[in-house]
Order: sequence, then structure tokens, then C-alpha cells
Amino acid sequence: MSDGLVRENAPNHEVAADGVRLTTSAIVGLGANLGTRERNIEDALKELDDGAQISIVTKSTLRETVPVGGPQQGLYLNCVVEVRTSLTAPELLSACQRIEAALGRVRLEKDGPRTIDLDILLFGDLQCSDVDLKIPHPRMLERAFVLEPLAEIAPRRVHPVTGKSIAEHWSMLRAGAT
Ligand code: AMP
Repeated sequence: MSDGLVRENAPNHEVAADGVRLTTSAIVGLGANLGTRERNIEDALKELDDGAQISIVTKSTLRETVPVGGPQQGLYLNCVVEVRTSLTAPELLSACQRIEAALGRVRLEKDGPRTIDLDILLFGDLQCSDVDLKIPHPRMLERAFVLEPLAEIAPRRVHPVTGKSIAEHWSMLRAGAT
């Protein structure tokens, strides 16, 4: 049913003339540093691609990364995926949180080790600063574990607040980091 209705970076809640809800291109970041990390990410991706309202379009390679902030903890595996979804941003957040709970994530301490973490990084061109949902993800431009895989799958995608491409942001972060 989506033929001709999918629009790049379409903000959500858009409805086509015939009443069918358009899909939005969103970016979700995944990370795991407890248990069988690769398996956790694979399982989360299987749950995310629900065959109905969320479908994964592109997946970055998996990278092992050093934890940023929080207590001393093990290395993470991270990746990012582009999804197409007919959900609203809050609905997508709920779906991500359901997957975290289903895979046994327990929130013990802020930025602590985790079986699986799913963050919405971008949602079309949406800008949202609700208490429990901030989009674009506020720390995505400071994080190599987000920008490197995102530059791999969507280098030309434009950050809706800065107006700069992901490739530019990744290059700026690398320049600052060396
Ligand atoms: P974390 O423990 O890092 O998974 O953070 C989860 C908390 O961040 C939840 O309470 C969410 O409501 C909140 N949050 C705010 N913005 C986002 C976002 N873009 N993606 C995922 N969680 C978010």
C-alpha cells in the first residue's frame, strides 16, 4: 500500500489525499554491553522489523566501542539502522522500550551497563523536546559511536537543527577528536 506514498524525511502525521498514513524515515541507534551482545542486537532488530508498522531499510556494520560516561563497564557493540515507519515518534519510542524490556533490560543506574539500548536519533525532520522524548537525540552529534555508523548508511542526510549533513558532522567530530 505504500507505493508512491513514501517521502524522504517526511515529518510524521502526514496523511495522503486518500487518507493513508505516510511512512517516515527514522534512524534508531542500538547498543549492548551485557550478555551475548551481538545476539542481543540481532534479536532487537528482529523485533523492530515487525512486518507491519516498522521495517528496517538499511543497517550499518556493528562496531565495538568504548563506553561514554557512566560507571566503569565493558565495551559496547553499536550499530544504527534506518527504518520506515507509519508510527508516530512517541509510538516508535514505546516500541523501542517494549523491545528493551522484552530482552531483559533492567535500569539500575544512569548510563550503566545494558543488555540492549534503543535510541531514536532522527525521525524525519521532526524536532521535539518533550520531557521523555527529545528528537533529534540531543547527544548524537558528540558521539562517534553514533556518527560513524550513521555516516556509513546516510552520509547525505541533513540534521534538521544544524542544517549540516551527517558526513560534515562526522568529519567535524573527527577533526576535534584528533
Ligand atoms: P536510556 O536509559 O539511555 O535508554 O534513556 C532512556 C530515557 O531517555 C527514557 O526515559 C526516554 O523517555 C528518554 N528519551 C528521550 N529522548 C529519547 C530518544 N530520542 N530516544 C530514546 N529515548 C529517549
